[in-house]
Amino acid sequence: MNGGKTILILGGGVGGLVAAHSLRERLGREHRVVLVDKSRQHVFAPSLLWLMVGWRGVPQITGDLGRLPQRGIEFVQAEVLAIDPAARKVTTSAGEFAADYLVVALGAELAPQAVPGLAESAHWYYDVGGAERLRGALAKFDGGRVALVVAGMPYKCPGAPWEGALLLDYYFRQRGIRDKVEMSAYTPEPLPMPVAGPVVGKALKEMVEARGIAFSGQAKLTAVDPARHESVFEGGKKVEYDLLVTIPPHRCPQVVKDSGLAGETGWVSIQPRTMATAFERVYALGDVTMIKLANGKPLPKAGVFAHGQAEAVARTIAAEVMRAGKPAEFSGEGYCIVETGYGRAAVGAGNFYTEPDPAVALQLPSRYSHLSKVAFEKYWLWRWFGGRLPGVEALADRVVFGKALPTA
Ligand SMILES: Cc1cc2nc3c(=O)[nH]c(=O)nc-3n(C[C@H](O)[C@H](O)[C@H](O)COP(=O)(O)OP(=O)(O)OC[C@H]3O[C@@H](n4cnc5c(N)ncnc54)[C@H](O)[C@@H]3O)c2cc1C
Repeated sequence: MNGGKTILILGGGVGGLVAAHSLRERLGREHRVVLVDKSRQHVFAPSLLWLMVGWRGVPQITGDLGRLPQRGIEFVQAEVLAIDPAARKVTTSAGEFAADYLVVALGAELAPQAVPGLAESAHWYYDVGGAERLRGALAKFDGGRVALVVAGMPYKCPGAPWEGALLLDYYFRQRGIRDKVEMSAYTPEPLPMPVAGPVVGKALKEMVEARGIAFSGQAKLTAVDPARHESVFEGGKKVEYDLLVTIPPHRCPQVVKDSGLAGETGWVSIQPRTMATAFERVYALGDVTMIKLANGKPLPKAGVFAHGQAEAVARTIAAEVMRAGKPAEFSGEGYCIVETGYGRAAVGAGNFYTEPDPAVALQLPSRYSHLSKVAFEKYWLWRWFGGRLPGVEALADRVVFGKALPTA
């Protein structure tokens, strides 16, 4: 391969942003790194929970992708309309692009309309608009029945529904109205975070129940009746609510499905360690993919995995383009910091690629873990959108993430 190469990255979320920076730092300037996203706003999703309870405003949890050119990354604000993976050609609302390497990191879409009545009646904190509307609804809420419903599988961040439940409990306590609020949580899963095994699942369930939140597993939402304020579950069970908070169903973006990249699961199938798709020099990573683990369950959709995968893909592409360094693999390591209120957080961490089950352990909530979560939020926005301090960045990358990959 001679001459300058173009690496085209679709999506400027966690995976796309990390891949773009890592590539830019590894490739010579004759090579182009181009990132396409329909939005200029990068959202640090873990902080949506804090946005929901009013502890953060939108500017504190977002970054401007329009600043990427300052770092040598071309940014195209446009919607991806069609992907031809065999030809590595992409049609966008801003024109056509051809690539030597294509990285698809378009994430998962929220689809509340997939359950009849849900979009009209429920609140959610899974995007900026939803979290802001829920904050407004919470401010007006003085008591009643709060139903927290996971409306479909798979969904992003297996800890987030339980984090949301614990944080809402704390929020109501802070407002002095907890005794007037009845809280219950429903999910199609048997236990919270089943991928991490029954020990972690039971520990999280106990944490939720200890705060007076009733937990119902294997509860599959089939419809919502907005007029009656009722959630209807498979088998006919009906639950009345005054405030319905949902984790909406997720789906693979239609443009990805139409491209032929999505497999039987409806998500992109990739090699679990290299993120290679069935198409030459086309990689996919993060929430848009589905990786089946040894225990048959899917690898959860989480930023920590999108991040590790993006690093590995960037190293592999850079090694090939620069003919230096080695290709890299994603190790399966991940962690999740679950905010529990009272200035504390619990950490679940481990390797999800171990057999026969992921080796994941949950640490009890601590003040230290909460402070790590706050520090990580600040680090994230500074690392990709703040002023450049290259030496400090390299050190912080290693300290904050305890990187699974060796320095290359
Ligand atoms: C409330 C909440 C809390 C979370 N907490 C955690 C946590 O604590 N830890 C953790 O690891 N993960 C957490 N996550 C999950 C994490 O945010 C996602 O797993 C992660 O963002 C996935 O990265 P991605 O790059 O695959 O997709 P995304 O970050 O979703 O990025 C996809 C990008 O593609 C763009 N896009 C989509 N379609 C198009 C199109 N047609 N044209 C152009 N652009 C398009 C979107 O605008 C978006 O910028 C949380 C998620 C939520 C919602």
